[in-house]
Amino acid sequence: MLKLNNNLDSLKHISILDVAHKYLNVEIKKSGSRYSARCPWHANGQERTASLFFDTNRNLFKCFACGIGGSNIDLAMNALNVDFKTACEQLAQDFNLPLPWGRAANITPAERRAAQAKANEAARRRELAVAFKKWCDETYLKLCVLVRCIDKAINHDPVFCESIPDLLHLEPVIEYWLDVLQSNNDEQKLELFKDEAVKTWTTWNLT
Ligand SMILES: [Zn+2]
Repeated sequence: MLKLNNNLDSLKHISILDVAHKYLNVEIKKSGSRYSARCPWHANGQERTASLFFDTNRNLFKCFACGIGGSNIDLAMNALNVDFKTACEQLAQDFNLPLPWGRAANITPAERRAAQAKANEAARRRELAVAFKKWCDETYLKLCVLVRCIDKAINHDPVFCESIPDLLHLEPVIEYWLDVLQSNNDEQKLELFKDEAVKTWTTWNLT
């Protein structure tokens, strides 16, 4: 355990914008009282609209697309892909402030590797979460289109549709899938992700 002294407060008071300017390679724009940027942590940093916001009053950051957020130290941890201790040390060095503990900690190579592995794992999980959400959103849209097509077919050519009983049975199934995708139940969503039937009906591209 780290024994922290009051110097941690001085690190926490470094402006979130200064930390962002220092460690994030993004353009930060001011609109009204808010500051925003394109989030580098999702969509490979290629998002079209800025989802990453900086709250200078509370010294916090938050991305409304991928959910990443926190304090200025969290920002440094995520930007540099390091653990809390290393982030504090880097901030202290870069902003010329005293360390929150007595001396520079002697981090062994093994500890550094472990911290790096943990940070990588966290980054991978975030990426997975973003990709999964994208799949859910796209699948939801595709299923909506499918339901509309089935409705149209039923209205225009009921005789033809009766010759394909599967089509009539499909609609309530899709309605169920849509309910799941709209819910907060990630386990059920994961079941859909693995479901071959869902795959069969959504293997086409939205244009
Ligand atoms: Zn984001």
